[in-house]
Amino acid sequence: MLLSGGHVIDPANDFDADADVLVVDGVVQAVEEPGQIRAPEGASTIDVHGCWVTPGLIDPHVHLRDPGFPQKETIATGLRAAAAGGFTAVAAMANTSPVNDTLDITRYMLDRAREVHASRLIPVSAVTKGLRGAELVDFAAMVEAGACLFSDDGIPIDDQVILSRALDELALLNFAVSLHEEDRHLSEEGAANAGEVSKRLGVKGYPNSAETARIRRDLALAIGTEGPVHIAHLSCAESIELVKHARRNGANVTCEVTPHHFWLDEHAVLEWGPNAKMNPPLRSESDLEAIRAAMADGTIDMIATDHAPHDPASKNLEHLAGCFPMSASGAHLSDDAASAFMRAANGIIGLETSLGLAMGLVHKKVISPRRMVEMMSTNPARLLRLEAGALSCGIAADITIIDPDLEWFVEPAKFLSKSRNTPFAGMRLRGKARLTIVGGEIVYDARYDTNRATRV
Ligand SMILES: [Zn+2]
Repeated sequence: MLLSGGHVIDPANDFDADADVLVVDGVVQAVEEPGQIRAPEGASTIDVHGCWVTPGLIDPHVHLRDPGFPQKETIATGLRAAAAGGFTAVAAMANTSPVNDTLDITRYMLDRAREVHASRLIPVSAVTKGLRGAELVDFAAMVEAGACLFSDDGIPIDDQVILSRALDELALLNFAVSLHEEDRHLSEEGAANAGEVSKRLGVKGYPNSAETARIRRDLALAIGTEGPVHIAHLSCAESIELVKHARRNGANVTCEVTPHHFWLDEHAVLEWGPNAKMNPPLRSESDLEAIRAAMADGTIDMIATDHAPHDPASKNLEHLAGCFPMSASGAHLSDDAASAFMRAANGIIGLETSLGLAMGLVHKKVISPRRMVEMMSTNPARLLRLEAGALSCGIAADITIIDPDLEWFVEPAKFLSKSRNTPFAGMRLRGKARLTIVGGEIVYDARYDTNRATRV
């Protein structure tokens, strides 16, 4: 396959120029100036003029709900949604049912993934058995089975002695722990950012301190270990300062932000209700600005969707019908509605909108195209210890072809994901994956997508 006429952006190789890319037997064979590669006999030439050719996008944090919750998502639907979003690999979190804390579950996930012609699945192993925070899983065995990251995500690791032991053991294996940072004494029942919006809703607030207190504790541990530590879905300005401080003190720490935390602030909850409810919650406008600045200056290493599919019942949509958007006047939710909101499941889907929202920051000139590729491919590949995230000759041809000017509307009914819980419905985005290529095979082609897009 010859990808001809595109603009190659490959930060790992410090390459950002027009070039053709030749893929042979599923492997990148050559990246050369336009017109320099003669396609071998039988090769198909794909004209990608006007598009960016990037190493395949990688999402280090998704929930595929399989095994356990087929009404929300399955490995098959999740990986197809990922491919449609331009992702060639996604790291699937361990909070399935049963939890991914044994070889059998990891193997089950990889077997299901092999049956699907879509994105690759990278298994994330639990840190503690059953996510109960008490007993460590057998890390070496899980690595052997294919785990590339360790996380109890969804639940924080409350016992710092357990976490400290996990960091020491994983430092020897050189695999990272991804930390869901939440002090549940402080966040208890908090359903929206503590402040104006939680008051409007009449629900308990979830303060920044629930996140920052735990990050401060865990980064103190990280400073004392060699092992890589990754902060999942950070949401506020002080968290960014804590990461900078820990780095200055020698911690081997990376961090991620979700598209909703770099695109929306807490006011979105008044409009979208439970479809803008997540953990950590959407924060203030100044937190949003700090996050964007930290994406631009390199403090935030990567973008992760935290793709969290939920069926309408889990979001209590029926109980909350008619409550959102809330009017501009000062009315609160009724006590019943506030309670239904507090009980609604946390999280939103993100695989099919992440690239379009990141491209939004590129079009606004908040980040450069190269920075976006670093955050969505180069750096996640390093975190997950994958031989990916680069268009180096000899490695598997996982490639995303991005049309930066393709305009489209977010239409949840057309998503390949099984779930529809998104606060971005109806939004007009500019920038979309045109082709997603995994191991030299096209697993998504926008031409056959029913989500109609027009080039501007
Ligand atoms: Zn989490």
